[in-house]
Amino acid sequence: MKCARCVAPRDIRIVESPDPVPEDNEILVSVRAVSLCPSDHHIYKEGHASGVYPDHEMILGHEFSGVVAKPAADGSGPPEGTRVAIEPAWHCGRCDICKRGLINICRNVVFPSYPNRDGALAEYIACPSFSAAPLPDNVGFVQAALAEPLGVAIHAVRHANLGFGDVVAILGVGVIGTALVELCKLAGVRSILVVDPNESRHAVPLELGADQAYTDKDQLIEDVGGTEHGPSVVFDVTNGQDSFSHSVDVCEPGGQVIVITIPPHDHAELTASTARRKELDIQFSRRSRHTLEEAVRLVSEGRVHPDRWPRKEFSLDETGAAFECSTNPPPGMVRAVVNVGE
Ligand SMILES: [Zn+2]
Ligand SMILES: [Zn+2]
Repeated sequence: MKCARCVAPRDIRIVESPDPVPEDNEILVSVRAVSLCPSDHHIYKEGHASGVYPDHEMILGHEFSGVVAKPAADGSGPPEGTRVAIEPAWHCGRCDICKRGLINICRNVVFPSYPNRDGALAEYIACPSFSAAPLPDNVGFVQAALAEPLGVAIHAVRHANLGFGDVVAILGVGVIGTALVELCKLAGVRSILVVDPNESRHAVPLELGADQAYTDKDQLIEDVGGTEHGPSVVFDVTNGQDSFSHSVDVCEPGGQVIVITIPPHDHAELTASTARRKELDIQFSRRSRHTLEEAVRLVSEGRVHPDRWPRKEFSLDETGAAFECSTNPPPGMVRAVVNVGE
């Protein structure tokens, strides 16, 4: 099969590789669309993922959709020809954490595109049959690939106790931040405030339900009347180094901070006295669990609109250009998507 391998930092080669051989409980998926996630960029740019170095030239990409080319030999999962989205955190189902239901933080999780399991920027990928969600006809392959980051946003919203009276702040409006705007709107909160230093990213969240957009958290703080009167729920999805402290500054006393962000340097700081005096509830949110079907349903029912999240599309041959484009995105763009096959 044809695939895109990351042979060195910022060096993607289109090469031929043997087709993956599925295990008995795996389906072979003919890949159609792959959305490039900021986490793929760590290996692309730095050659490792939070200090974990791959042992081979990896195929990246974990937000994807496709068609079942070969069903699972054990009879589980969808039949050949089914259009599917895939949940990429493949839990073991046997460890103590899985038995507590927390499958997204499984001790033995396998994650395609994370060392050392190859990802989806290829004509085929083998996936556990349980990871596939069948797609209704009205959900396209690109939207289905974006159901994965939508699932991450759904998981974060489930951590928050959102109510009608809540003022919500979303720090960072990339794909997940934009999805959060749509979900908070659906939840019927009082108002949605977004902060993103890149002003070209403000228009779409404002169209999709945000009430105000700021380039800087200090503007938000001034607007709401100070650091004690801010939003009751803050979602941190900036991927910036200072976002923990910004979230704590912005949040009102007794509020909730939901941290989805991955800071560029592993050690990040916040002002302890601010967080303590406000008695903030700081909750980390990792990946997603049991969200893919919900994400696909929200898209199919027209209640969330990934087709309106600004993106640029590329072919598999252009994967290197797609990574470069999302490293330095043109104004407004939040995702590069690689179309594979047809
Ligand atoms: Zn991702
Ligand atoms: Zn497990």
